Amino acid sequence: MRICRSCGGRYEPIGRDGVRYFHACPPIVRVRVQRDGAELVVDRDQVRVTDTRLEDVVIDRPNHRNENVRGWGATARSSISDGDGASDEP
Ligand SMILES: [Zn+2]
Repeated sequence: MRICRSCGGRYEPIGRDGVRYFHACPPIVRVRVQRDGAELVVDRDQVRVTDTRLEDVVIDRPNHRNENVRGWGATARSSISDGDGASDEP
């Protein structure tokens, strides 16, 4: 099991089907709400039942990791973004 140091995601580098998994961090999703006459962007767990939910706001994660490679076949190169790296689960 690997742990992504950018997002905390845990994943197996090889799936049960034997196919390699290339981790890519998910974006951060916050919510734009109207609260007491003002528009705010808040974390999803901070939305109140009295808020008017306007839209999700998708933000690229700083230092995101994307293990997918540039190019194809013999031209494939290094991962798209190393982010903060990954380590084996202790
Ligand atoms: Zn990640």
